[in-house]
Amino acid sequence: MTDLPYVWRQKNAYLQFKGYKCKRCERVNYPKTLKCIECGSEELEEVQLARTGRVLTYIVNYYMPDEFDRPLGQGVIEMDGGGRLMTQFTEIESEKDIEIGMPIEIVIRRMSTKDGLNYYGPKIRPLKKEEK
Ligand SMILES: [Zn+2]
Repeated sequence: MTDLPYVWRQKNAYLQFKGYKCKRCERVNYPKTLKCIECGSEELEEVQLARTGRVLTYIVNYYMPDEFDRPLGQGVIEMDGGGRLMTQFTEIESEKDIEIGMPIEIVIRRMSTKDGLNYYGPKIRPLKKEEK
């Protein structure tokens, strides 16, 4: 089922890429949360997240439903300046294209297609060697 209200509520997080920095411990929370996931403080300020970061961990799925890209890499990344995100890779052909610690950038891409509708969100793309 389509959850458009959820997508609408999270549009700052997913499309404008806003994080929520804790005024007490400086942890950058992402996506939006009411309390800091580190210390529980409710004093959070909106910050612009970097669109570059590094891979913390990842998996590559070769068998996915038709609405997803195959193979589908999924990774947890730490953005430069803070904020963690788990999402899909784009522009990879196999797990050989990904390694832990590699620099990536975030791009907006189609996440899936269902009932003729495309769903867009942040994906991670390996930074090309000449871009490092
Ligand atoms: Zn905190």
